[in-house]
Amino acid sequence: MAPSKLSPGIPAATYGARLEMARRALAADGGDGLLVGVGADLRWLTGYDAMPLERLTMLVLLRTGTPTLIAPRLEAAPARLAPAVAAGAVALMAWEETDDAIALVPPLVTGGSDGRLRPSRLLVSDRLPASFVLPLQAAFPEATFALASAVLRTLRKVKDADEIRLLRAAAHAADRVVLAIAAGRLVGRSEADLAREVRERLTAEGHEHAGFAIVASGPNSASPHHDASERVIEAGDPLVLDIGGSMRGYGSDITRTLWVTGGDERRGPEPEYLSLYGTLRAAQAQATAAVRPGVPAEEIDAMARRPIAAAGFGPYFIHRTGHGIGLEEHEDPYLVSGNAEPLEIGDAFSVEPGIYLEGRYGARIEDIVVCAENGPDVLNEAPRDLLIVAGV
Ligand code: ZN
Ligand code: ZN
Ligand code: ZN
Repeated sequence: MAPSKLSPGIPAATYGARLEMARRALAADGGDGLLVGVGADLRWLTGYDAMPLERLTMLVLLRTGTPTLIAPRLEAAPARLAPAVAAGAVALMAWEETDDAIALVPPLVTGGSDGRLRPSRLLVSDRLPASFVLPLQAAFPEATFALASAVLRTLRKVKDADEIRLLRAAAHAADRVVLAIAAGRLVGRSEADLAREVRERLTAEGHEHAGFAIVASGPNSASPHHDASERVIEAGDPLVLDIGGSMRGYGSDITRTLWVTGGDERRGPEPEYLSLYGTLRAAQAQATAAVRPGVPAEEIDAMARRPIAAAGFGPYFIHRTGHGIGLEEHEDPYLVSGNAEPLEIGDAFSVEPGIYLEGRYGARIEDIVVCAENGPDVLNEAPRDLLIVAGV
């Protein structure tokens, strides 16, 4: 049985609490309504993992009253099973195939047919397609439109104990996949073949989406987002594995770097690579150790960058140190120079410095870390030292 089946998901009562938090945040923002389409915002608020369609699915949440979920009739069955709908915290309004779905929104927002409420500020979910945004703007000509992240961003950023439990379960599943790959045959196999095995193993470990499998061997390891290719892995190759997906909605994302010897001692890592990796290992450890509430996000980035720069690799660390993770693979907070926002208890993010020498080789180490009261809670457990493996 997949491990995901053993642990419960988010308790239904949590959705009611989140809807209430969103309502309060909406009022504090001065917004009149939240219009939330399919995606992570909708899932966070209602538990509904809706299919992205050209048909309108939209949660209409106002400062008062029961929020309404507008959904196409053919999606009514799954929508009704969404925890917030099943618990009665959200009313379901199904529209027929020939209805003008957008026309259902204004009466809900204006509080019925008397149209007393004239909304002046409406917040739409950040990833709502323009095909819905433009007709909504036409339907509310007097309202200004803003992004729902203005109120949902800070709420979604801080993870509760259930979310951290789900992130940890996803991280451990990804740990096991990395270790299984590292223990298996590598020499003579193509990157694409290995990437297929990664996806199969993520699925077998309970992931519903085996989202990505970066398998970067030899000189390809110098490309951070390398697309697994037909290149065949050889003895003497470094190998960067950056894999993840989602389990019960919550993301996994881990990077480990291997060196493949083919069982031949002479094909081990050269001293220069070991020194590069040692620098990276220290930088990742130092940045992780600096995680605690109140520390600016950009300070974690600086902690990772300093030792890498001191070793002369500064120009070769070409991306930010990390990104938030939750229902989305990349979300707030971003660990990047310019983001002075202090870390909060419950923030979950990657710490993933890398060094990339184009044309030669590269390395990256990535863990998912939660900012806990007393410091970092590192969710991944796979060893971080360079994994020197025979691969035969
Ligand atoms: Zn990336
Ligand atoms: Zn990654
Ligand atoms: Zn990442």
